[in-house]
Amino acid sequence: MQLDLHRHLEGSHSASALVAVAREFSIFDPVFYDAAAQRFRTPAELTTQITMSGPTADPAVFYDCIVKARAAYVSVPAIGALATHAFREAAAETDGFEMRLSLFSMTRTLIEQQHQRWREVPPLVFAEQYARPILLAVLAARDLVFAETGVPMVLRLGLSRTFESEPHYRALAAMVREHASALVGLDILGIVAGDDREPLPEALLEILELMRRDLPDLTIHAGELAGPQSVNRTLELGPRGIGHGVRSLEDPRTLERLAREGVTLEVCPTSNRLLIPAELAALERVHGGTPLRALQQHHVHCVLGSDDPTPMGTSFSAEVELARHLGVDMARLERDSRRRWTQITGQVLPGAPAA
Ligand SMILES: [Zn+2]
Repeated sequence: MQLDLHRHLEGSHSASALVAVAREFSIFDPVFYDAAAQRFRTPAELTTQITMSGPTADPAVFYDCIVKARAAYVSVPAIGALATHAFREAAAETDGFEMRLSLFSMTRTLIEQQHQRWREVPPLVFAEQYARPILLAVLAARDLVFAETGVPMVLRLGLSRTFESEPHYRALAAMVREHASALVGLDILGIVAGDDREPLPEALLEILELMRRDLPDLTIHAGELAGPQSVNRTLELGPRGIGHGVRSLEDPRTLERLAREGVTLEVCPTSNRLLIPAELAALERVHGGTPLRALQQHHVHCVLGSDDPTPMGTSFSAEVELARHLGVDMARLERDSRRRWTQITGQVLPGAPAA
């Protein structure tokens, strides 16, 4: 049973999907179209533009790949087509998955692609004329692919800690609450500049508390770019899952707390290799192996994720093979993944878990 429990829609647009959508919707952006040769680029040519070439300490390299792929967000139908491709590709390599939707950044991008300044769009218009149609298109894509494949798939709403505009976030949040039954929870994501790369502004916390009345299952990205103190601070909010969290291994008290409170870490090995190469090497040295295995040995519940397969040049199948190769306890991983799936969906997946 292979469950991808940490995957972002914005990082799941494959080169072949982007080229297909660029052709279908006549997107002549230089990312997709070679004006000199008067032809669309091939998936192989595009791959070099939207995939990281190797590990780096600079998250901007990763972000730049995401920004390039976003050039295809030219209309709601184009976003719907991209989502359909992404759900199909995830369904083809998993037995179930959770996709995260960064609705604010997709909405902002769509408005910019239509040559407007998003900050000049009134918050209510932002939420109703742009964000809601995007959300409905992504939900329709999910329902279509589920009907085609029967692979269980759920959607989580991601909010970025970059928090560019409180009024726009508030309007978006009010709209999203009306669709809570089609979503499984909330995620806090995003990278900000500065010493503390994982802070949460007060007003964002307030919006989060409002939204949790309808969407109680909360996950927060922490403990990858920042150290265990970011995980400790996150635990104060009572999340069910933490995105990454591998740097909890730097503090035994954080590990004990994670195990005691039963919080699940969503571990993405290739993300760690690409984004925090130095910290990962230090963790491997101290713990004698890959973080996922070390966390299991400290009785912390862990699941596996592909994170952003396109910019990170990976796939969920590749992450599973990597975990196996690195000595992860695969039976325990399966038990923890099934446990987490049941927490998220209220449903027990068929098939007996490995003893
Ligand atoms: Zn992530």
